[in-house]
Amino acid sequence: MINLSRIDLRSDTLTLPTRGMKEAMTNAALGDDVYGEDPTVNELEKKVAAMFGMEAALFCPTGTMTNQLGIKVHTQPGDEVICDKTAHIYLYEGGGIAVNSLCSVRPLEGKYGMITAESVKTSINNPEDIHQPITSLVALENTTNKGGGAFYDFKEIIKIKEVCTQNNIALHLDGARLFNALAETEETPLDYGKTFDTISICLSKGLGCPVGSLLIGKKDKITKARRLRKLMGGGWRQAGGLAAAGIYALDNHVDLLKDDHKRAKELEKILNELPEIEYINPVATNIVMAKLPNTIDSATFVNKLRENNIYCSSFGKDLVRFVTHLDFSDEQLNLFAERISNIKF
Ligand SMILES: *Cc1c(COP(=O)(O)O)cnc(C)c1O
Repeated sequence: MINLSRIDLRSDTLTLPTRGMKEAMTNAALGDDVYGEDPTVNELEKKVAAMFGMEAALFCPTGTMTNQLGIKVHTQPGDEVICDKTAHIYLYEGGGIAVNSLCSVRPLEGKYGMITAESVKTSINNPEDIHQPITSLVALENTTNKGGGAFYDFKEIIKIKEVCTQNNIALHLDGARLFNALAETEETPLDYGKTFDTISICLSKGLGCPVGSLLIGKKDKITKARRLRKLMGGGWRQAGGLAAAGIYALDNHVDLLKDDHKRAKELEKILNELPEIEYINPVATNIVMAKLPNTIDSATFVNKLRENNIYCSSFGKDLVRFVTHLDFSDEQLNLFAERISNIKF
């Protein structure tokens, strides 16, 4: 049961499974996935691979795991990974690139978490120079998280791909919220499947599943990732109930993402009225990233809202994040506006 009186916009991971999703989970056919015998996990992996026109997919508990596996299958110890300086793989995966793949990172100064083909090109190390780490991977994030839910112009992605191909570098997508980008653009999953070597998607964000992410790619990479998942202790058994939630979400929840985006736009309008907010990153999808003036720090702001039963996240000293999701209704949006207008900062 969602508590109507609490308005929780800390993350789109906070959703509870819908009735239909729970039914699908209860009725799922099960088997031991380490033996490759869970029919529902197999169905989900096949469905997602086909959706992206790629050879294979691997179901994992988290997006951190699918990203880390994606990075590891493309790199050797000592290599370098190029990404934006606010990338989730760099800032929010516990230093996993260093620990799991023994690689260094070249963080680029992007815009709203997005980098350009030009900046990638100038950041690739000369493979002939024995001083420098070998650049073996570029990782993009779409939509961006810390960048405030922004999405790439696909033309730029194609240009980045060309740079990667010319330099024999793999391209990975952290698509934790790729379906949010797809809801606002003309591209299809097939376009992304043609362009990236590996793609990570999350079922546990806007799509509303309790757990689950997939790594998608060529057969040899996914086979390698399956071995590494086991090594990391991520070989699971009767995971079909969770896979059933994923299949249900892909069939029923993708079309609802646009509603989350509309509500995020409304939140932007309401928040823009507050003098305690300096500016808001352009709201493109379901994330509202607001910059506070130096007269109030984010912890104080967050606590003030919490006293009024509105939950949001602090993202550093002067940024606060609001994320819309399946369990945030129009009714709660109205309640949000009412409560915000009564807060004395
Ligand atoms: C949430 C998220 C992930 C994965 O997080 P998990 O909590 O490990 O599932 C990866 N990348 C981005 C951009 C995210 O927002």
